[in-house]
Amino acid sequence: MNKKSIADFHRRLHRWYAAHGRRELPWRTTADPYAIYISEVMLQQTQVKTVLERYYFQFLRRFPSLPALAAASRKDVLTAWQGLGYYNRAANLHEAAKRCHGTLPDTVDELMALPGIGRNTAHAVAAFAYRQAVAVMEANVKRVLSRIFALEKPDDAGLWEKARLLLDTKEPFDYNQAMMDIGSMLCARRAPRCPECPAQNICEGKASPQSYPAPKSKKAPPLRRQWIIVRRNSKGEIYATPRKGKFLNGLYHFCEGEGGAERRVRGCVYLGHIRQQYSHFTLEAEVYMENARGQGKHWHSPAQLKKLPMSAAEKKILQLL
Ligand code: SF4
Repeated sequence: MNKKSIADFHRRLHRWYAAHGRRELPWRTTADPYAIYISEVMLQQTQVKTVLERYYFQFLRRFPSLPALAAASRKDVLTAWQGLGYYNRAANLHEAAKRCHGTLPDTVDELMALPGIGRNTAHAVAAFAYRQAVAVMEANVKRVLSRIFALEKPDDAGLWEKARLLLDTKEPFDYNQAMMDIGSMLCARRAPRCPECPAQNICEGKASPQSYPAPKSKKAPPLRRQWIIVRRNSKGEIYATPRKGKFLNGLYHFCEGEGGAERRVRGCVYLGHIRQQYSHFTLEAEVYMENARGQGKHWHSPAQLKKLPMSAAEKKILQLL
């Protein structure tokens, strides 16, 4: 691969992007750095379709600016994020908004100093919100680079080096968007469409694309068995508290535990079973109802309960009540 073939690749890529790229995506047509930042965080672990149809516009309507997000309560931000998963993203967004004092920084280093913004997100915000000539990196781009350079076991440092080597510094915005589109529209994990790909002239892996990167053997996530007890007082109020710690931080949950279920659930009424798949484990839980004494801050009427930010597992439990 030499300078001439890379320049040729850039020409092909821009032609392809003009004809087939997803140029109309709302975060590609706005100049608002805040909206672009929100889209980047949402898209970290969620598909474009889901973000577009159910979250991006709704979130921006509710928190239309960085100061509006900073002024919101954590509970409101988590409620708006409900269903998107990976709730630390929402907590970090909120914290970052508070630290920004109204303006999102425009350098990679300053962006990376904010909570929840790693190297990939910082580069994406710099590239798309501030149109800087920096390469972006996400799952699709990693796959495209691994194939173009026939990398079986790419590491981060190697991928960033290749990304910088290929970057079109004259038109970085369209280049980066096109690389992401090539990854999601042409260079699919299975059945890549090489004959249509603008990278054909430089792609060293096109004879055997699925070898790059080499497939990893997948381990099944561990199974976690729990008992969950929904405690209800004589007024029909239910006890639920916000979680602390990294996992689902701030989202409300019921009493839960592992082991010793027989003793703990004695006298409770069995409500049913739930199963929830998380990224790093599978939850299987038996759910019970307990008549309990208590009232005050953490006791919620059924109507209040429905408005609390909760994860998908707790939503399933609500359906058992
Ligand atoms: S030529 Fe094929 S393997 Fe190479 S980047 Fe394009 S789609 Fe992927």
